[in-house]
Amino acid sequence: MADCIFCKIAAGEMDTELLYEDEDIVAFEDINPRAPTHLLLIPRKHIATLDELQGEDYHLLGDIYRVANQLAEEAGISDNGYQIIANCKEDGGQVIYHIHFHLLGGRKLNWPPGE
Ligand code: AMP
Ligand code: ZN
Repeated sequence: MADCIFCKIAAGEMDTELLYEDEDIVAFEDINPRAPTHLLLIPRKHIATLDELQGEDYHLLGDIYRVANQLAEEAGISDNGYQIIANCKEDGGQVIYHIHFHLLGGRKLNWPPGE
């Protein structure tokens, strides 16, 4: 999608360093980190919102969680724990309309969300 910042990041068209990439998924640091570790994991495929997932897209979710666990291990936050959060649409606090999963850790994180 031409105007999508996350499509551009996935395509290597931005300066953003990719911490992980494979055929389907890329991961990079959030530009405005909310925790000592704050990564974003996205599918390369442009899917605007979580509720637009369909059919073969769903395998991406398992893949993203597998990569998130791997990156959490590499970041050294596995033992203490972390959050994986995905926001959907306006009420969910979604700002970038290309689905993404926040991996947060490195400090005690607040619960519950949704404030
Ligand atoms: P959300 O509210 O779930 O849509 O979150 C969007 C996230 O994308 C926010 O945490 C932003 O800080 C982050 N973000 C926006 N632009 C960039 C960018 N160019 N590189 C990395 N992270 C970004
Ligand atoms: Zn996109």
